[in-house]
Amino acid sequence: MPWLYLLLLIPIIVIIVLYRTFSFKAKDYPEMKKWHEINDQHAIESLSKMIQIPTVSHVDRSKENPETFIQFKAFIQSRYPHIVNVATYEEIERGLLFKIPGESSEEPIVLMSHYDVVPVQEGWKKDAFSGHISDTHVYGRGTLDTKSSLNAVMESVEYLLSKNKVFKHDVYLAFSGDEEIFGPSAPAIVETLQSRGIKPYMVLDEGGAIVSNMFPGVKEKVAVVGIAEKGFMNVKLTATSKGGHASTPPKQTPMTRLAKAVNKLNNHKSFKLKMTEPVKQLFNTLAPHSSSFGIKMLFANLWLFMPLVKLIAKLSGGEFLAMFKTTQAFTLAEGSQAINVLPSEATMGINYRLRPGETSEVVLKRIQKIIKDDMIKVEAVAISEATPVSLVDDAFDKVRKAILQTWPEVLVAPYLMVATTDSRHYHHISDHVYKFSPMDVSKADLAKIHGYDEDISIDNVIHGVQFYINLLEQF
Ligand SMILES: [Zn+2]
Repeated sequence: MPWLYLLLLIPIIVIIVLYRTFSFKAKDYPEMKKWHEINDQHAIESLSKMIQIPTVSHVDRSKENPETFIQFKAFIQSRYPHIVNVATYEEIERGLLFKIPGESSEEPIVLMSHYDVVPVQEGWKKDAFSGHISDTHVYGRGTLDTKSSLNAVMESVEYLLSKNKVFKHDVYLAFSGDEEIFGPSAPAIVETLQSRGIKPYMVLDEGGAIVSNMFPGVKEKVAVVGIAEKGFMNVKLTATSKGGHASTPPKQTPMTRLAKAVNKLNNHKSFKLKMTEPVKQLFNTLAPHSSSFGIKMLFANLWLFMPLVKLIAKLSGGEFLAMFKTTQAFTLAEGSQAINVLPSEATMGINYRLRPGETSEVVLKRIQKIIKDDMIKVEAVAISEATPVSLVDDAFDKVRKAILQTWPEVLVAPYLMVATTDSRHYHHISDHVYKFSPMDVSKADLAKIHGYDEDISIDNVIHGVQFYINLLEQF
């Protein structure tokens, strides 16, 4: 009888689940702390001075002050004599590209950052461009995002060159000047490298960081290193009509049409959850460290419990959910100019964040299918596809090693970035594009990025330099 067979199946499944749970072991990567005698004061002051140059980028370029960008480049030239001495230097768009020749031009590495910052809103406690140094922090716009990593790159390379280090491979330092406005520097630098036939062995940009409470039951801090990025697509919906008068409105107006479309999109379950490779790797790395047997069992047996994990993602929402699916945010609505006037045209802007494996084309078609209204024009006004997934192999091992030599107590895990960085442009010239900002940040710190009273601990400033030295010593 079939139900008898089914009954027999249950103990077999239980045995498989338990076996997999107990053999779900964490990998160990023991590493000794490696600390270098750097000039702390120099590193702290360099960052402070970088902060004092207000390199604010604006989509509306007329609001920028080009002088500040020139000043910043001049500062870099004057601050790092060893680098300037040996490197070739180019300005590409508003980006800076240094090449430090190594013994071989094959398999170079690229260390990236950006030196533009987002504007400052009213309400900061101190001058956002003071670069004020206290006993514990450096204050100002750009300290976390991301002059700190630019500073750490420059300080570490300068330190190594002052010790007569010769790199085995060429080292490129590539800093864009318009990351925050999706500007042309980074793509232009990539184009330049590509036109010279340069295929970087590894690219490292800002991205993940060292965070607490990353995963249920894992008490260690986790250094999350992005190995892929979600894409984005801005979609504009436009509904039009012949107009009319607000005192005698027709039943359907552009506004009601748009409202219907938005409602349909918002309620539709069409953006399916999927566990992509970077998310799988994140869970496989962290779940074995969990003190919770249930969590371990769940993640050791995704073949059985995947629906449950997806349900948990749906219930928890936020970044956890965003790692699983393409998200849509309704952001920009426009109708008529006055409350007593019917619009002849109404528009709605929607920001999609595309998960790896889901292309803009597929999503766009789906939107049209869901709305099913010929009177509404659907158009993509900006597209950047999700990146390919970088390999987690010997290149990743080098990044992990440098992290553990700097912070021996943390775990290191690959993950999927839900935000975008300039390094997305590098995926087609390198299989190892990693996204990691070497700093230990709290939730409060993360809120300061693009927010108020941005500052960075001096501890992080110094650790950042140590991290890049530990990384570069392997090349
Ligand atoms: Zn940034």
